[in-house]
Amino acid sequence: MTQETGAERAAGTADRLYKTEAIILKQLPTGEADRLLTFYTPYLGKLRAIARGARRPKSKLVGHVEPLVHVQLLVARGRNLDVVSQAETLEPFVAIRSSLEATSRGLYCAELMDAFAPDGYANPQLFGLLLATLGRLNTGETEVALRWFELRLLHLTGFRPELHQCAQCGNALAMEACGFSPEAGGALCSGCRGSAAVQAGALVPTRMSLNALKSLRYLQANDYQEARRLRLPMPLALELEGLLRFYIRHVLERDVRSTAFLDHLRRVRGREG
Ligand SMILES: [Zn+2]
Repeated sequence: MTQETGAERAAGTADRLYKTEAIILKQLPTGEADRLLTFYTPYLGKLRAIARGARRPKSKLVGHVEPLVHVQLLVARGRNLDVVSQAETLEPFVAIRSSLEATSRGLYCAELMDAFAPDGYANPQLFGLLLATLGRLNTGETEVALRWFELRLLHLTGFRPELHQCAQCGNALAMEACGFSPEAGGALCSGCRGSAAVQAGALVPTRMSLNALKSLRYLQANDYQEARRLRLPMPLALELEGLLRFYIRHVLERDVRSTAFLDHLRRVRGREG
């Protein structure tokens, strides 16, 4: 699933210029008409660079350096910040852009990638994961694509939750509702759920239904072609979203900002429906 076209140094200009494919994660207005871009690349990891004049309507960068665009960049190394000198869109993900829900899901993935990927540490599989996930959102896939993305991201960055044995004592989990504790690192058996550490507040568990446990295991164990067959009725979909959000918030030690907007949209759409 990883695309192999990645970074290659522009010939003839030594190390001054580099060419890389990238997905724009975010942009901040800076200076008079510039944008400070954060983007993820397959072979150079997460980088930042200035796109000079990109907020001017006639800039040749307009449309190419927007968040969630898959782009080919030519970047000049600068003393402090690198500078984008050319940008060419490879995939604009038009369908994501045309829906508020799809846009907010895409931005959520971009925010997680920004939060989990350390600066300058390359992981081509992470790049492939983000690119493939945006492709799925672009074709209208929703909850399962997001849950699979979260689990795969946690796996690739070393935070895979334990779902096969109790994360606290290591005992096999009975096939019944159990506990889930980000502090412990995953599922908790019924014994540990009622243990002294829990009572003392050291492990803050939530309840995980048997269906949620089975669904998360299924998503974790299968590639996406298989995983996408999972059907999530609404209460279960919300439970999985809540469990993974609880876990991710613990790993990042903060809330993920874009989840507030996802929640807001759901409330608004719920009222409209
Ligand atoms: Zn246990």
